[in-house]
Amino acid sequence: MVVGLSLAREKERLIQELKAIGAIRSKSVEEAFRRVPRELFLPEHLRMYAYMDTPLPIGSGQTISAPHMVCLMNEELQLEVGYKVLEVGAGSGYHACTIAEIVAPSDVDKSLWGHVWTLEIVEELVSYARRNIEKAGYGDRVTVIWGDGSKGLPEYAPYDRILVTAAAPDVPQPLIDQLKPGGIILIPIGRPYSTQILVKVEKKEDGRVTRRRLLDVIFVPLKGEYGW
Ligand code: SAH
Repeated sequence: MVVGLSLAREKERLIQELKAIGAIRSKSVEEAFRRVPRELFLPEHLRMYAYMDTPLPIGSGQTISAPHMVCLMNEELQLEVGYKVLEVGAGSGYHACTIAEIVAPSDVDKSLWGHVWTLEIVEELVSYARRNIEKAGYGDRVTVIWGDGSKGLPEYAPYDRILVTAAAPDVPQPLIDQLKPGGIILIPIGRPYSTQILVKVEKKEDGRVTRRRLLDVIFVPLKGEYGW
């Protein structure tokens, strides 16, 4: 109970901090961060650190992204209710749930809901993510699929938005092909364990593709056919 109370306080403090540094700019990203309990996506012994602004280990050598990175990416994705979103790199399942809370909010009629598909290449993390997502109550809005996400997921394409949460050598062509016109891809590009750049790819309505460099980041490497 005491732990629960202090986590709630720490979460509110972190939200104020994320707003002050500009990682949270909109009400929808703020509310999504408030509603999804990050502690449920962490190994038990790390739960007390849920609202420190830092990545944390989730097993299999992988990490859950820091809160500021999750919020900043959600802002740059310009998400709307009803969107179909593909994530490459489910990890703990946390980021996918924060997106689900924006494209398929708990307080909006289900007929208007979008959906999040998230791919994970490490088998143990697939079941870890699924368990966490169920516990947090997002099992009906987030689908975790085991596979090489560098090739995307053609079965449910095209997507309104695609995010990659592992660093790639370049933007995989299949992801561009599976994006709707008017869509956005966010992807870190750069060598493993060195500085990488978060890139925003936009597919214009006429099919033209533009790229913009947003900021320096550090992600685990993308594996698979279009990975390292
Ligand atoms: N979004 C996650 C953090 C992801 S860490 C969260 O909210 O917790 C990056 C994840 O990408 C790791 O779990 C890693 O196993 C996975 N990954 C790396 N290459 C991949 C690929 N080609 N396809 C799918 N997942 C991949």
